[in-house]
Amino acid sequence: MDLIILGAPGSGKGTQGALLSTRLGIPKISTGDLLRAAARDGTPLGVKAKQFMDKGLLVPDEIILGLIGEVLNSPEAAQGVIMDGFPRTLPQAAAVDELLTPLERRVDRVLLIDVAEEALIDRMVKRAEIEGRADDTPATIRRRQEVYREQTAPLIAFYEGRGIVTRVDGLGTIEEIAKRMQAAAAP
Ligand code: ADP
Repeated sequence: MDLIILGAPGSGKGTQGALLSTRLGIPKISTGDLLRAAARDGTPLGVKAKQFMDKGLLVPDEIILGLIGEVLNSPEAAQGVIMDGFPRTLPQAAAVDELLTPLERRVDRVLLIDVAEEALIDRMVKRAEIEGRADDTPATIRRRQEVYREQTAPLIAFYEGRGIVTRVDGLGTIEEIAKRMQAAAAP
């Protein structure tokens, strides 16, 4: 099964993706985690990506498309994958389709975690205090919400056109939301 978790920054994609991964036995792969690791290691990809991440901007597709190819063709992803943080643009969504088709797979479902924008900003400010992520400053938090609205939210209509989007209410306890996610993934 191949799933995409879609949601604005701060919606809980990472937390819920990890729980869903354990419960369904499907690995979760996060481009955000991969990019942060590359930046920490100082690889050429990481150094380039960090310049965009720190500003709250998307890393350009020409960098990300190669990464998505590596992810989807990796042995870890051979039995299906939970995509966390990608695709994030329409070209990335097209790339996912092109990579899955030769594997005789397709995006089975998109779980859209729904949280109002004010609640997101609150959560991210709190997370910033705990985790200290370089891109969790008030200005970049707002920028990332704008980028989501402009570049990533169009994916909702794209996948709704295929009838594979399930909206999950993202307000509640972690466990409540995890139950909703599980029900949405395997209806
Ligand atoms: P969040 O959803 O909270 O923004 P992520 O870890 O998914 O957290 O992403 C953090 C940053 O990493 C993004 O703001 C962006 O700069 C970069 N990034 C992650 N995934 C992608 C992607 N698929 N395409 C472009 N940039 C990405």
